[in-house]
Amino acid sequence: MDHFDLNDGALHCDGVPLETIAAEVGTPVYVYSHATLVRHARVLKEALAALHDPLVAFAVKANPNPAVLATLAGEGLGADIVSIGEYRLARAAGMPPSTILFSGVGKDAAEMAEALAGDVLQFNLESVEEAHMLSVVAVAAGRTAQVAFRLNPDVDAGTHAKITTGNADNKFGIPASQALDAFRAARDLPGLEVTGVTVHIGSQLTRLDPLEAAFQRLGELISTLRADGFDLKIADLGGGLGVPYGPGQPEPPTPEAYGAMVARVTRDWNIRLAFEPGRLISGNAGVLLTRVVRVKPGEKHPWVIVDAAMNDLMRPALYDAYHHIAAVRPSGRRWTANVVGPVCESGDTFALAREMDAVAPGDLIVFRTAGAYGAAMSNGYNSRELTPEVLVKGDKWALVRRRINIADAAAAPVPSWL
Ligand SMILES: *Cc1c(COP(=O)(O)O)cnc(C)c1O
Repeated sequence: MDHFDLNDGALHCDGVPLETIAAEVGTPVYVYSHATLVRHARVLKEALAALHDPLVAFAVKANPNPAVLATLAGEGLGADIVSIGEYRLARAAGMPPSTILFSGVGKDAAEMAEALAGDVLQFNLESVEEAHMLSVVAVAAGRTAQVAFRLNPDVDAGTHAKITTGNADNKFGIPASQALDAFRAARDLPGLEVTGVTVHIGSQLTRLDPLEAAFQRLGELISTLRADGFDLKIADLGGGLGVPYGPGQPEPPTPEAYGAMVARVTRDWNIRLAFEPGRLISGNAGVLLTRVVRVKPGEKHPWVIVDAAMNDLMRPALYDAYHHIAAVRPSGRRWTANVVGPVCESGDTFALAREMDAVAPGDLIVFRTAGAYGAAMSNGYNSRELTPEVLVKGDKWALVRRRINIADAAAAPVPSWL
């Protein structure tokens, strides 16, 4: 459920007409619903309520907007971070270090040192080589880093290849066959304390069985490690639960079904569980609002050219992702059209042969479910501006990222020797 609804014939976010935001901020613009963020955080926490003291750490990479993070901090969520930039954003948003998990396959020594100085809860390591680097950093700082290794459970997540992370041929994690040796190596390194295990097999998962298979393998690893004398405190089950993107798209399992499966699989683990949801929390809390620039006749279907492009919302170009498209003031007439942006790439295509609201130049439309991996991935390709972001709460709204002119931001004088 979200809070983007038709009211008097025009799409609103909570109490605010999207037409008002477009008129005052311009388009394209991301619009986030505070009520939807809060609702998603609460629904997930409720679904996990049967577990003992679970940690829900929002995957900051899905939506690093400071106002979004502050909203989630207010709901008691922590952060799953993959860079020191995300660490700083999470701390600035009020997330305590004891709720921060540091993931990622390529943390460097400076990132490790800053996160360690800030006392993050756990470093989720992805190789023994990384453990060696962290050990050197920790010893130099005179501190102890709490660490886990990420298991690569070699399961097929059944999602798009580019968002699959738990296959043997992905770069992520350590295979089960090498896990015990890796944990023993970390135990022998100074400055490290082995505290946990973790797994994350991919994103936009629409079935529970790959997750269950991965968790079962993690459970086997926990038994093996305990038999070897490890005192484990945290089992981090990652993120990945999918969200509904719209009509005709695979329906993901509910958070309730996910929570029940987790409770069943982990019943005898006697360990604190952690979760790293990203898309589930913010995906349906955002839309990308854009204006139709022109409609160009096509061979079969008209080309609707909008002022948003692949640089604003990369998912269709990157993953062939589906975003539901709706007119902000639907006329009731429907048609089949192609929807594209102005960027000079054929990949700058949001939808082909899409059955949708008929629109004309000047009309506003939205791409739904754009609150995760939307603004977060935006860039300035074609010297376009970085899309602004707006947060709506009730009938109040505010610009929470201004429109940024990348060409200006990156401007440097041309060297005199040129
Ligand atoms: C991206 C990522 C997540 C979040 O994935 P969602 O599909 O958005 O829930 C969680 N954990 C790790 C390690 C990730 O890389």
